[in-house]
Amino acid sequence: NLENVFHEELYRLATTDGGTMVYNKRYFMDGLERELSRAKRHHRPLSLVLIDIDHFKQINDTYGHLAGDHVLKQVAQLIQFHIRKEDIFARYGGEEFALLLPETDYYQALSIAEKLRRLIEAHEIYFEDIPIRVTVSLGATMANLQNENTQSLIQTADSNLYCAKRDGRNRVYG
Ligand code: GH3
Ligand code: MG
Ligand code: MG
Repeated sequence: NLENVFHEELYRLATTDGGTMVYNKRYFMDGLERELSRAKRHHRPLSLVLIDIDHFKQINDTYGHLAGDHVLKQVAQLIQFHIRKEDIFARYGGEEFALLLPETDYYQALSIAEKLRRLIEAHEIYFEDIPIRVTVSLGATMANLQNENTQSLIQTADSNLYCAKRDGRNRVYG
């Protein structure tokens, strides 16, 4: 019925990032809260990967802001297409994404992150017939079910991402 369609559309708008058409940060934070509680309750592994495009400012400066927007969306869609249905993938900031992996341990998370790194590295993005290549840096972590909270999980992934950047970019740290 029409009212349901209306509410579903409102919900979609409220949870989607318009620039990339993946989930927004608000949706991600809700999902993170929910999945961390679930992981703790059932003693299940849960991992988080933060993904940041390397030297993205250069993409804007070289090809223009519209090209940057396009690259952002293509990278987001590429990742979205290669993850599982139960994973929660969202735009976390400007050119940064978050990937929450339920039922995934540390080594599986590193392997997924590495797979995505290679996928993006190998992918050519076309903007007005110009091929553009980008790489990403990724910081991974698995939740410690004894004492983890959403902030500490994000902090650990973020500091691993920072180390991946510092040591040269286009790499996965966990
Ligand atoms: P690093 O490898 O250290 O991550 O370098 P970087 O250039 O990717 O990072 P920095 O934080 O210096 O710059 C991020 C840039 O991303 C600056 C900002 O203008 C651009 N940006 C953020 N959101 C958008 C967007 O929605 N569209 C476009 N075109 N650019 C964006
Ligand atoms: Mg960046
Ligand atoms: Mg960034």
